[in-house]
Amino acid sequence: MKLEELLKDLDEDLIAKEYKRIENEIYITCEKNSNSSTCPYCNELSSSIHSKYTRTIVDLPIQNNEVKLLLIVRKFFCTNPNCNHKTFGERFDFVFPKAVRTKRLDDYINKMGLRDNSMDTVRNLKDIGINVSSNTVLRIVKKN
Ligand SMILES: [Zn+2]
Repeated sequence: MKLEELLKDLDEDLIAKEYKRIENEIYITCEKNSNSSTCPYCNELSSSIHSKYTRTIVDLPIQNNEVKLLLIVRKFFCTNPNCNHKTFGERFDFVFPKAVRTKRLDDYINKMGLRDNSMDTVRNLKDIGINVSSNTVLRIVKKN
């Protein structure tokens, strides 16, 4: 299976730009292959890019290697004169705006956290390449 296909599960338009493995960590630089985005405040489509920045987001591991997405996020100008936001960062369905883990990783941690106590969960997750603290496990389980 190609790396691209794994990314497509997250977002149809996501493309891998670079891939790097350092010890037990896999870094995937990726970005959306589209030149426009919808303003989350007024729903107007914009193709006017203001800037780019990178978010590091942990995803499900691959063969016990921790996977870190280096997600290139574009900031757009909102061109709607009636909108009260001048710029907005593009949104992704697979991760909440300020989250550091993908939704599917949190779902998995939640599932494991419901089975065992948090210390065992941390140990079991670590074995397969997910490094989280027991506080994080408890926070995720409480939220779901
Ligand atoms: Zn807007």
